[in-house]
Amino acid sequence: MLCNYHTHTKRCHHATGTDREYVESAIKLGIKVLGFSDHAPYIFDGNYYSHYRMFIDEIGEYKNSVLALKREYKNDIDIKYGFELEYYPDKHQREMEFIKKYEPEYLILGQHFVGSEPQGSYIARQSDDSFLINYVNECIEGLKTGDFIYLAHPDIVGYDFSEKVVDREYSRLLQFAKDNDFPVEVNVLGISGNRWYSKRKIFTLAKQIGTKVIIGIDAHSPQAISQHSFDLANELVSGLNLNIIEKLDI
Ligand SMILES: [Zn+2]
Ligand SMILES: [Zn+2]
Repeated sequence: MLCNYHTHTKRCHHATGTDREYVESAIKLGIKVLGFSDHAPYIFDGNYYSHYRMFIDEIGEYKNSVLALKREYKNDIDIKYGFELEYYPDKHQREMEFIKKYEPEYLILGQHFVGSEPQGSYIARQSDDSFLINYVNECIEGLKTGDFIYLAHPDIVGYDFSEKVVDREYSRLLQFAKDNDFPVEVNVLGISGNRWYSKRKIFTLAKQIGTKVIIGIDAHSPQAISQHSFDLANELVSGLNLNIIEKLDI
């Protein structure tokens, strides 16, 4: 069964297409469950405004649009309404109070910064081992809140760390995910975009540890919802015989 819970919309300001086009693309492919998980607006202090997520005044329209499509297409596909959200420790509670008002069906945890966004560090290639340790701590803390259904792009933080620390820290993260039954994602955008993630190494560790794995397209265009995306993910982990979860209990 084909399912995808990681889909963006143009409201994050770096994706294309209409919401309907994502749905049509998914139906054409035979996807059974399509989850919209656009970057949630985030409430920061002061004047800081994030430009790669939807704005606060777009959230109501996002909700209405996804739920209208859910009703309209209910005989063809199961559409879920969710968000991809960061876990910023000192802002999480306030953020959740805000998001809950919009009654999402699910949230996925996708860290792009460590610490916080305005003052924190962007996650792309870092080389200080302590950065990876902090990243793993925040992923675990975030999952512990119980607010998220899975961890998106677990290895987005990169590999420019000492091998010993990479093994130790990713093992710690994957063991936590296993013990608490959180799937970790093979992120297709990382593969199709020739980014530094997803890497086979982390899924080899996931196999050893027994962590559940889920494929997430991280679609930023309707065209990304394609067989090619699933093929790329399957190719990356081929032969590992992973415990791949398709349908989530939402
Ligand atoms: Zn993400
Ligand atoms: Zn995403």
